[in-house]
Amino acid sequence: MRAVVVGGGLGGVSAAVALRAVGWEVVVLERAASFGEVGAGIGVMPNAMRALGVLGLADEVRRIGTGRVGGGVRDWRGRALVRVAAGEHVVAVHRADLHRVLRRALPERCLVTDTEVTAVDDLDADLVVGADGIWSRVREVLFPGLPRPVYAGATAWRSVTSVPFARDLEVNQTLGAGTEFGILPLGDDRVYWYAATVAPERGVVEGGEADPDGELGEVRRLVGDWHRPIGDLLDATPADAVLRHDIHELREQPPSYAKGRVALLGDAAHAMTPYLGQGACMAIEDGVVLAAALARFGTVAEALAHYDRERRPRGLAVARMSRLAGRFGHRLRNPAAIAARNTVLRALPSSAAVRGMSTFTAWRAPELSPDR
Ligand SMILES: Cc1cc2nc3c(=O)[nH]c(=O)nc-3n(C[C@H](O)[C@H](O)[C@H](O)COP(=O)(O)OP(=O)(O)OC[C@H]3O[C@@H](n4cnc5c(N)ncnc54)[C@H](O)[C@@H]3O)c2cc1C
Repeated sequence: MRAVVVGGGLGGVSAAVALRAVGWEVVVLERAASFGEVGAGIGVMPNAMRALGVLGLADEVRRIGTGRVGGGVRDWRGRALVRVAAGEHVVAVHRADLHRVLRRALPERCLVTDTEVTAVDDLDADLVVGADGIWSRVREVLFPGLPRPVYAGATAWRSVTSVPFARDLEVNQTLGAGTEFGILPLGDDRVYWYAATVAPERGVVEGGEADPDGELGEVRRLVGDWHRPIGDLLDATPADAVLRHDIHELREQPPSYAKGRVALLGDAAHAMTPYLGQGACMAIEDGVVLAAALARFGTVAEALAHYDRERRPRGLAVARMSRLAGRFGHRLRNPAAIAARNTVLRALPSSAAVRGMSTFTAWRAPELSPDR
């Protein structure tokens, strides 16, 4: 059986690894001239680590990711709002490194660059996987009436410091009024950081600007006087290595994640706001569930029906929770509302915070075949 995967982002390549693990021949068609991930770091949550475990890649990702540190949520002055014990949260990796780990699990002949797919009918395959991201052409072909993604009202900057920081630096999310800042140490002790703020739509800057008053300057104006080591992290970041992306989401998800022999996966199916750090994690889950369904059911049609039943409720629920996390997180600007939110967070036992997070990270990965 042969599958064509449209799009070679984290979702597409992980789906390809999963499909090959259940005996499918796979080709990934990527429109860019080369494979890789622009972008700085990415947080891999426990649910995605389990999916990577099924693919045999979790140990490698853990090796290049955040060590066993604690972390939590703080206010802009640095006062703790939520504490999370070491080992209970996210593993951050550089996106390019995660993509490389996944790519290395595929033979080179599976990966085809410089190929933009505009129609699916003429693709020679038993299964087509639309993994072509938030502005998915495959989704548009399948569901032409579906509203396009919309601006979620916030813009985000991301970068990685050029120098290592202290080994014991913690994973941290800092909430200010209308702005948040995240700190995620990588396995080599460099630090992935992001900032997000409520703002009008502005577009994308990839590759940053050498001008210190450019994107980095803007981040400095927003969070430069926040608690340590935020200013130090910005000082250790080259001005031309800051990416800015407006945040969009698919408010109305497709009525099905599958149609005919085509499955939608990752942002193509459920592009969500990044406030729970789950977009790529869900894409990785999707690929594993799709492959498990194909291994379990006799026909592609049955497998895709199962895939849709399994994934769509979860895609909708996580997207909804992510939107909510943004609303009560960095999007709050009213001082009284912020004070009330912070009081509630501070009163929360750390076990309750972890339990809250685990309502969506507790997902169990299916086995790809009984003997794996
Ligand atoms: C600021 C920010 C922070 C985030 N942080 C996190 C995080 O910490 N953790 C997390 O899990 N998620 C995070 N996300 C979400 C995550 O980035 C996305 O959900 C994830 O990258 C989606 O992967 P994908 O493979 O579905 O799509 P993409 O990564 O968009 O990949 C799609 C690929 O398809 C290719 N393509 C597009 N159209 C075509 C075509 N017609 N033909 C061929 N190829 C095509 C593209 O070139 C691209 O390579 C964040 C997002 C943002 C904006």
